[in-house]
Amino acid sequence: MYLILLGLPGAGKGTQAALIAQAARIVHITSGELFRENIRKQTELGREAQPFVEQGKLVPDELTVGMLLDRISQPDAVKGFVLDGFPRNVDQAKALDEALAGNGKTIDMALYIEVSTDELVRRLSGRWNCGKCGAVYHEESRPPKVSGACDRCSGQLYQREDDRPDVVRTRLKVNVKEMEPLLQYYRSGCKLYEVNGELGVDAVKDDLLEAMSRGQEVR
Ligand SMILES: [Zn+2]
Repeated sequence: MYLILLGLPGAGKGTQAALIAQAARIVHITSGELFRENIRKQTELGREAQPFVEQGKLVPDELTVGMLLDRISQPDAVKGFVLDGFPRNVDQAKALDEALAGNGKTIDMALYIEVSTDELVRRLSGRWNCGKCGAVYHEESRPPKVSGACDRCSGQLYQREDDRPDVVRTRLKVNVKEMEPLLQYYRSGCKLYEVNGELGVDAVKDDLLEAMSRGQEVR
């Protein structure tokens, strides 16, 4: 079973990809690991991708897809894989589909973990750092005992620019704009399954597994 897991930042994609891969005994492939592994082994594609990774630039699609095809041809991926972090846009999705088709393969399902923007802002913002000792707090998951002060050293807490709700919201808008056409792409191919990502980690996992078994029946 060849799966793609989609979700906006903060939706829990990485966590869920690991959980469903374990439960379904398929391989969890992240684009980051794919790059690191190819660079470590100094494969031809890895050597080409290296300067992009080192400069923090986007690795060209043909390199990423090439590494992916190589990865899924390995014995442990025979039963299937769940892809996490790729494709990021419709061009990449098309490149992936074309490359798979050339190998007589196809993506079976794209699973989308749906979380509202408000909830994502809540999850991604609200982090506070201690200016004195560097301790990290979170308004919801790890609040300091006294608001604005560090539990450990009583230092003053400050919020980084990137962790401010308005900044997070603006950044998310860009991600939403990229995600919409991608969802539409898989929806039009009848491959899109959406689950509510605002439930607990276990409930989301169960819903994903349920969607996977439904998807398997259809095919
Ligand atoms: Zn402190």
